Amino acid sequence: MKCFMCKGDLERARKTYVATLENCVIVIKDVPAMVCTQCGEAYYSDEVSDRLERIIDKIRGMVQEVAIVEYDKVA
Ligand SMILES: [Zn+2]
Repeated sequence: MKCFMCKGDLERARKTYVATLENCVIVIKDVPAMVCTQCGEAYYSDEVSDRLERIIDKIRGMVQEVAIVEYDKVA
């Protein structure tokens, strides 16, 4: 798999995912991703993307401003 932006090599890494919503920001730490070694662009698998969506849906109603969660601790 190659980076769509610069064709660089991707390697497994843990990234911090930030979702900016209308009324709050949700920061999800240690998300498994493939990260470009050249430009730093992060790619998430379908499984991880789905899970991120579910995490965001679940906590967006409970958050006032900023929420910081760890990927492995929210399911
Ligand atoms: Zn790249």
